[in-house]
Amino acid sequence: MAAVSDHTARSAALFDQATAVTPGGVNSPVRAFRAVGGVPRFMTSGDGCHITDVDGNTYLDLVCSWGPMLLGHAHPEVIAAVQAAVSRGTSFGTPTETEVLLAQEIVGRTPVDKVRLVSSGTEATMSALRLARGFTGRDKIVKFAGCYHGHVDALLAQAGSGVITLGIPGTPGVTEATTADTIVLPYNDQDAVSAAFSQYGDQIAAVITEASPGNMGVVPPQDNFNAFLAAICKANGALFISDEVMTGFRITRSGWYGVDGVQPDLMTFGKVMGGGFPAAAFGGRADVMSHLAPEGSVYQAGTLSGNPVATAAGLATLQLATDEVYAKLDETSATIQRLVGTALDKEGVPYVIQSAGNLFSVFFVESEEASGPIRDFAGAGAQVLPRFAAFFHAMLDAGVYLPPSAFEAWFVSAAIDDDALSRLETALAPAARAAAAV
Ligand code: PMP
Repeated sequence: MAAVSDHTARSAALFDQATAVTPGGVNSPVRAFRAVGGVPRFMTSGDGCHITDVDGNTYLDLVCSWGPMLLGHAHPEVIAAVQAAVSRGTSFGTPTETEVLLAQEIVGRTPVDKVRLVSSGTEATMSALRLARGFTGRDKIVKFAGCYHGHVDALLAQAGSGVITLGIPGTPGVTEATTADTIVLPYNDQDAVSAAFSQYGDQIAAVITEASPGNMGVVPPQDNFNAFLAAICKANGALFISDEVMTGFRITRSGWYGVDGVQPDLMTFGKVMGGGFPAAAFGGRADVMSHLAPEGSVYQAGTLSGNPVATAAGLATLQLATDEVYAKLDETSATIQRLVGTALDKEGVPYVIQSAGNLFSVFFVESEEASGPIRDFAGAGAQVLPRFAAFFHAMLDAGVYLPPSAFEAWFVSAAIDDDALSRLETALAPAARAAAAV
């Protein structure tokens, strides 16, 4: 039985029921609060920047469904677009106009020539890898420790997100043969990449990286790392795959590409482009994309790919995500970072805040001097995890919902207003004290 108190009684009861019928009681591991302990909150509704659980507690939401809810919850225009789509029928298994409009919107915002819609970020990266291998006729792929690209077998080695949160080293069920062609390197380490290309240059199909990693906490690329990767791939006939599932349409209207302008051969998208529904995409150079079936022979398909309801939600979301929205997100994010820093400083809690556009995370470190900027998986792993857990629970008790893991980004929405920020400021004081007490 989960611990029950008045304000979590219904969530606790549901969690017990869920655990009886679903492994760990959840349909995605980090939701289970394993890293922070306590009762996961079962949400019933969301409105703007708030979410409400089954016990009637309302929280300021800084998870935003792990990224998608850029505009906040139940945005009236997105809901209207979804309702209109639903009333016309929910799936046809044929092409529809909204898919074309969404693809045009993505192509218009990013450097991809062509895009294929899928239903999850995992599917997008899995398909991009297959296409890169099919296009190059090579087997090996390079990924970076701490980057998470979904639960694709070949990409689970030293992955971020829930894989680090739960301390799972390599996943049982993934065969050695599957990962034999995966080369895992330290992030931001140009020498390691050069060495891998010296040894395996003519066998590497692709380098895949998060455009700016957010799944070991926010660890941005340093010293033009993406430009370096693009150049070394080009020189060796490999493809550069930039995974913008998290950053795409969130950091700027064209994602992290809008920040560093490095042109990838293939890109993957998800989260924001589905407006809260299962929609994702991969896209890239026309000559590479033309290898996909039915134009080419690399097979990829999906019964619900380009689903009319999901694409209506995604299209409405992107159409509303104007430059003004991104400016507001940047400002909100900067304010929150400042408030967190002030509260932690006041209590003398050592921390490092790292940001990539409006994405940021707060690392509770042993000492700021010893830590310096966190540039890779090893650095992210050196956090004082019990301090995060204490901070997290104090925030939760004060009505602020943070990612329940120290290895995740915090996500802001455009619905966060001054009232919400002052609620946050009030919550931060006891949370900083709780962190200091650890
Ligand atoms: N790539 C990145 C960078 C991600 O952050 C995620 C999900 N957090 C994925 C891929 C996988 O997406 P999904 O959960 O939709 O499969």
